[in-house]
Amino acid sequence: MNIPFLSFSYMNQQVKAETLKAFETFFDNQWYVSGKEVENFEKKYAEFSGTKFCAGLSNGLDALHISLRSLGVGAGDEVIVPSNTYIATLIAVTNVGAMPVLVEPDVRTYNIDPDKIEEKITNKTKAIIPVHLFGQSCRMDEIMAIANKHNLFVIEDNAQAHGAFYNGKMTGSFGHINATSFYPGKNLGAYGEAGAVTTNDEALAEKAKMIRNYGSKKKYYNDVIGYNMRMDECQGSFLAIKMQYLNEWTEARQKIGENYSKLLAGVGDLVLPHIADKATHVYHQYVVRTKKRDELQAHLSSNGVGTLIHYPVPPHMQQAYASLNIPKGALPISEEISNTILSMPVYPGLTEEQQQQVADTIKAFY
Ligand SMILES: *Cc1c(COP(=O)(O)O)cnc(C)c1O
Repeated sequence: MNIPFLSFSYMNQQVKAETLKAFETFFDNQWYVSGKEVENFEKKYAEFSGTKFCAGLSNGLDALHISLRSLGVGAGDEVIVPSNTYIATLIAVTNVGAMPVLVEPDVRTYNIDPDKIEEKITNKTKAIIPVHLFGQSCRMDEIMAIANKHNLFVIEDNAQAHGAFYNGKMTGSFGHINATSFYPGKNLGAYGEAGAVTTNDEALAEKAKMIRNYGSKKKYYNDVIGYNMRMDECQGSFLAIKMQYLNEWTEARQKIGENYSKLLAGVGDLVLPHIADKATHVYHQYVVRTKKRDELQAHLSSNGVGTLIHYPVPPHMQQAYASLNIPKGALPISEEISNTILSMPVYPGLTEEQQQQVADTIKAFY
């Protein structure tokens, strides 16, 4: 039996009837952008996140960008980001004209190491962007304490961790303003591009909504030079439907993660996910580490099991960021992680039998 790395089949089947009906309503309403469907989703997602406000946006990169713009971060400013993240986190910082300053992760959780943040703070530092990578929350209490002490903004990048908690509080509710993505493959995924910001600060929410709409509050009157970063009405209505299933899907992912960890305990040189104290993990990815990564991936592939590497090249080693001038070897933890990680299939609908097959195929390799 072939096991694809990702499949939407199970989730799609659950929402199909409702979604097709919603599409018809959206189509017939003849209102396609910035309307009551997006507003309804914003209300629901804010409530889910435990924040007062949400602004629906075009995608996750734009959500990070708008967060920085709303806080007034720009040219001459430095922003602390994890060195082990998806490139979008850095691109948002450079696109507002600021400088990303990279901090190494905790090798066990892959998330930014709070103990290494303070040494990177200068008088130019304006903000910290913790990324809840692979679905595990960062150590937010420590990060918020550092930010408060140095008077810095915090923007959570919550693209991979819808529904995760730290110390009983949901990710996306700690920072001054927080960005997320609803790219189709995320835990809550749209049928196309979408993203959002969440915040408890009404002024920031208003600013984000103005910037996403050409810098305009009143039609054809523009207060600032903004962007078109609006969410489509159809994505708002589809996401509101999918949100009803998010807790169930999160539980399904957590069950798969726990089962993999049981089945793979003590196998070969595998390093399994480590969940930090007070954190929860929603398994956007189930990531293992091994010195024989490439061989294991080839073995799984030839046995019909799809895997991916998140990510094969850390941002500082990308051609795009050659200008950062960070030499190979300067961020050894990120480099080690990128050379040894492998992500296993994890999605609602992945059966216990399939999970067993993945584990058996790995065991056969060792
Ligand atoms: C997906 C992702 C983004 C960007 O989201 P898009 O909707 O693809 O623009 C940003 N940060 C992280 C950590 C992501 O995984």
